[in-house]
Amino acid sequence: MPTLADRLKNVSVSASAAMTQRARDLASRDIDVVSLSSGEPDFPTPPHAIEAAHAAALAGDTKYPPLDGTPALKAAIARKFKRDNNLDYEPGQILVSGGGKQVIFNAVLATCNPGDEVVIPSPAWISYADIVRFAGGVPVPVACSHVNGFRLKAEDLEAAITPRTKWLFLNFPNNPTGAACSREEMAAIAEVMLRHPDVWIMTDDMYEHLVYDDFEFCTIAEVEPRLYDRVLTVNGASKAYAMTGWRLGFCGGPKALISGISNVNGQNSGGTSTITQAAAVAVLDGPQDLLKERAAIYRKRRDFVLDKLAGIDGLTCHKPEGAFYLFPSIAGLIGRTSKSGHRIETDTDFVMALIDEQHVATVQGAAYGMSPFFRISYATSMEKLAEGCDRIAQFCSDLK
Ligand code: PLP
Repeated sequence: MPTLADRLKNVSVSASAAMTQRARDLASRDIDVVSLSSGEPDFPTPPHAIEAAHAAALAGDTKYPPLDGTPALKAAIARKFKRDNNLDYEPGQILVSGGGKQVIFNAVLATCNPGDEVVIPSPAWISYADIVRFAGGVPVPVACSHVNGFRLKAEDLEAAITPRTKWLFLNFPNNPTGAACSREEMAAIAEVMLRHPDVWIMTDDMYEHLVYDDFEFCTIAEVEPRLYDRVLTVNGASKAYAMTGWRLGFCGGPKALISGISNVNGQNSGGTSTITQAAAVAVLDGPQDLLKERAAIYRKRRDFVLDKLAGIDGLTCHKPEGAFYLFPSIAGLIGRTSKSGHRIETDTDFVMALIDEQHVATVQGAAYGMSPFFRISYATSMEKLAEGCDRIAQFCSDLK
């Protein structure tokens, strides 16, 4: 029998994708599932993006794109970085790829040698560690305790850095906790990084526009310009503009790094769809009011779910500053048994029993590297959230 590559042994199927699939399977058997597991905006893509894509296709913009992004999109990205982040990136410092995920994958492949360490404040987006392992690197999680609002403490970061450290990954607002960093906290992180000149810093700013209650987003290259030459600033259209299916991510960084990433990008893709890139120009250069409008809706949903969770015995939940996730603790429920006889020893037991018995899909904290918690995505309608919360409350009150 021909065999698969050894490198696949270290790569898992994402738990959130697995849970979303489980919810779909149940739904296909006509079971009424409330899916709170998917990290995908429920809003439509803005019409002007679709119109721009349509116009590009009709105009014959259907040939191979430049490997690192069209000049029009790179110019729009440069304007976006200046407008939103006060960062100056010229076209040669910008790369476009098929989603933030592909940008990060290519960046890690372009830089990590076997055994290189990547410091990942955790809990963290599931794919970071898998991508690092895929490249032969070693993910080094640094626990961001709920006691500190799931934020990264400078001293914990300092303790995690070794001579093998190649990258620090930052993701605030964070998936799965929603935690974001204030300017002061980011400055403290930057202070540590100034002492480690051989470490790259990747900041995944995918949830930049999803911050609430006047919280001000900041990004490390802007907070500490002395780090500018070592920072890869990653962003994309998926979360901000509800364009998950278009597959559009981009980054700005030092020329040498971008050129290395571009090399990998040119081998694992033939560039990003021209149609997608035309749509991305339209959203980046178009009216930005929808970002605030949608953030206001997300904030209402966050507060609604938080309020519901506060009324459930055994759950406690930190109020996050951003993204569209909540990360409640189930510490108060460990050791109990569900109505159908499932013993809850872990957060995985909890989410599995919850989907089986109440048909609510969520994701276990273990998948993000922190237990005993579970992730709720509130990127769905108020009706679904109300129904989901009622079912979670019922499930918890049935636990004996
Ligand atoms: N980064 C984080 C923190 C995410 O949560 C996600 C998607 O869930 C991504 C990156 C991937 O985004 P994209 O759709 O641009 O690949």
